[in-house]
Amino acid sequence: MAKHKTHFEECDVLVVGGGMAGTGATFEARHWGRDLKIICVEKANIDRSGAVAQGLYAINCYMGMQWDENQPEDHVRYARNDLMGMVREDLGYDMARHVDSTVHMFDEWGLPMMKNEKTGRYLREGKWQIMIHGESYKPIVAEAAKKSADKIYNRIMITHLLMDEAQDNRIGGAVGFNMRTGDFHVFRAKTVIVAAGGASHIFKPRAVGEVWVELGMHHGVMDQHMHYLSLLVQR
Ligand SMILES: Cc1cc2nc3c(=O)[nH]c(=O)nc-3n(C[C@H](O)[C@H](O)[C@H](O)COP(=O)(O)OP(=O)(O)OC[C@H]3O[C@@H](n4cnc5c(N)ncnc54)[C@H](O)[C@@H]3O)c2cc1C
Repeated sequence: MAKHKTHFEECDVLVVGGGMAGTGATFEARHWGRDLKIICVEKANIDRSGAVAQGLYAINCYMGMQWDENQPEDHVRYARNDLMGMVREDLGYDMARHVDSTVHMFDEWGLPMMKNEKTGRYLREGKWQIMIHGESYKPIVAEAAKKSADKIYNRIMITHLLMDEAQDNRIGGAVGFNMRTGDFHVFRAKTVIVAAGGASHIFKPRAVGEVWVELGMHHGVMDQHMHYLSLLVQR
């Protein structure tokens, strides 16, 4: 008898990686797809995984549109200048116009935000950042993902995406191993969202210097959850 078992799972939406992007994508998938079967797979544990695991002291981008502190056009201009034109302005604009509502959700979910008691405005550190007591940031967002997903698989390391047998050039799922038991997991999915962190070196770079990757990462709208979605494959 084989020592390790093979487990099969089918779903509508498979989210690979449960960092900020993956947990956010899981929450959003449920918002837009009420009746869908949604699964999130993470190699660690979503409560404390990814770059926000230990907590953050600031949210790197908040427009403050309700007080006319900044508008999406301002952020696009800033990113364009800083990156010498190497930006997708449409995507930057779209993220900028949604980021405030995402931050307001974190506030509603109980993330301790630093505010001016008289005006109610978030306290800033610089033009774009707002200050938080962010030790609990990741568990709070993970909680929203847990309530949204049909199932969260922790401790599964995805090793390969599966190609769809029926259609050329389409992803049909993913496979991986349980980091504790060694069991093999096969996920078949109609949609796969890969949110496994920084996409450095996955794609052929347009510039030779690593600095471009770094700048590109820091001038995205980081708290829009979907910041590092490296691949979105939809049927
Ligand atoms: C030191 C540091 C400080 C920062 N400070 C701030 C700040 O103050 N304010 C701010 O707004 N932003 C800050 N950021 C940026 C912010 O943390 C990131 O933008 C954000 O966490 C990225 O989220 P993500 O989900 O895309 O990636 P990640 O957080 O890296 O999540 C990826 C997840 O995928 C999982 N994973 C990877 N590969 C696999 C696999 N093969 N199978 C299964 N799971 C997998 C990982 O375990 C991880 O949980 C900081 C980042 C760093 C590194």
